[in-house]
Amino acid sequence: MNRNEIKAFLDHIKCFVLDLDGTVYLGPNLIEGSDKFIEKVRKRGKRIVFFTNNASKDSKIYTDKLNGLGIKATRDDIITSGDVTILYLKENYPNKRVYINGTPALEESFKESGINLVSEDPDIVIQSFDTTLTYQKLWDITNFIREGALFLATHCDINCPTETGFMPDCGAMVELITASTGKKPRYLGKPMKETVEMIAAKTGCEPSEICFIGDRIYTDVKTGVNNGSHGILVLSGESDMGTVEESDVKPTLIFQDLNEIVDYL
Ligand SMILES: [Mg+2]
Repeated sequence: MNRNEIKAFLDHIKCFVLDLDGTVYLGPNLIEGSDKFIEKVRKRGKRIVFFTNNASKDSKIYTDKLNGLGIKATRDDIITSGDVTILYLKENYPNKRVYINGTPALEESFKESGINLVSEDPDIVIQSFDTTLTYQKLWDITNFIREGALFLATHCDINCPTETGFMPDCGAMVELITASTGKKPRYLGKPMKETVEMIAAKTGCEPSEICFIGDRIYTDVKTGVNNGSHGILVLSGESDMGTVEESDVKPTLIFQDLNEIVDYL
């Protein structure tokens, strides 16, 4: 796209869905200019939604972090893969017995939403990014799957980036369960279509008016381009042009960082 085409494309977007780590901030630090991008988008009367696959923390932790970095955000601006999973359960499996391997914060958000959490005889089991995982929890979930429970996972990320390297994430925990049971889960979060549907319903925008922006092709960008929305890749996190060449997902646009987009808004 040339400069005018980029401007016209960005102009018709009504909602930008931003990934957090590697896009807005890197560990504890703001990525320079991401605050400027967010401010300008809002000034244009457009919506910013922050979406993270990391379901191990509740949205208050993210609002506090963003506010601390000088970016205005309320709970309503933040969606996690845990929120998508809750909505998916409510729409497709209301009142079922649900067992979850997740952090206390995630369990709390399920309970608050009225999901019937149980520790035995579940109809549905869910694996998440459980930093409180124990051998007993792994054993229990594999038993429930063998007994016929439906297997879901909040998101597919294999590793979670940290300041010092990586932590094993939900997808890595699922691999162990799959090796034991032979069963694969239905994944939610990015890049699944339920995520786009939830954001469209929440914002009142058409999928074609929504653009995902993030540093990961196989989650952030793929969510948009595979489900009727759009996906911008920023090179401020884990991807470089080598990743783009290797991937079969083609980003709508590629920028160095959010700051580089400001000029086109
Ligand atoms: Mg990221």
